Amino acid sequence: MSRVIVAIDGPGGSGKSTVARGLAARLGWAYLDTGAMYRAVTAEVLRTGLRLDDEDAIARLAAACVIATVPRVTINGRDVHEEVRGDAVNAAVSAVAAIPAVRVAMVARQRAWADAQPGAVVVEGRDTTTVVFPLATLKVYLTASFTERARRRDDEDAGALGRRDQADADRPVSPLRRAAGALVIDTTNLSVEAVIEEIQSCLRTST
Ligand code: C5P
Repeated sequence: MSRVIVAIDGPGGSGKSTVARGLAARLGWAYLDTGAMYRAVTAEVLRTGLRLDDEDAIARLAAACVIATVPRVTINGRDVHEEVRGDAVNAAVSAVAAIPAVRVAMVARQRAWADAQPGAVVVEGRDTTTVVFPLATLKVYLTASFTERARRRDDEDAGALGRRDQADADRPVSPLRRAAGALVIDTTNLSVEAVIEEIQSCLRTST
């Protein structure tokens, strides 16, 4: 693979989004928040009143929808930027993301997005190192103690965060896993800058 791809995985509150965004900004690289895509599909599922166990209908919605994640999260032109961080989406997103056909549709878009970028990219989200870009230039797995992760997610109840982690780790398709060869960083006691530094120094030796 000639394109430089940094893929960052990890559970909620591990710092993935902040670190990925910061790294991309520092390097001037394009950035994709894959979690926002699953969240946008979930917002649309909730709006249209589909049942979470109606996998066929949700899969059709996921295959046909148009999603943007920058500058704001939208689905089919509707701005869901705030809504995707709300309790309703937090509670339902793991169920939507566990539907195999939804994952197939999102993974295809994520790869197409990377292919369409003129330069290097940072991609963030659970399964980006294991399934979407297993051959990424650098795979990073961020982790942190549960207490610290719950503290950082002040918009999400700790119980809900724990349930989402468990659902993501236990699902049969693309469960949250540390990819072989990933750089593992425990961010519990590290600043965002320190984590970015560590990734950059590893990147210098991998490119
Ligand atoms: O990263 P974020 O917390 O925004 O992700 C929201 C949810 O989307 C996760 O709990 C997970 O269920 C799903 N997700 C996923 N695969 C990704 C990114 C997110 O299944 N690559």
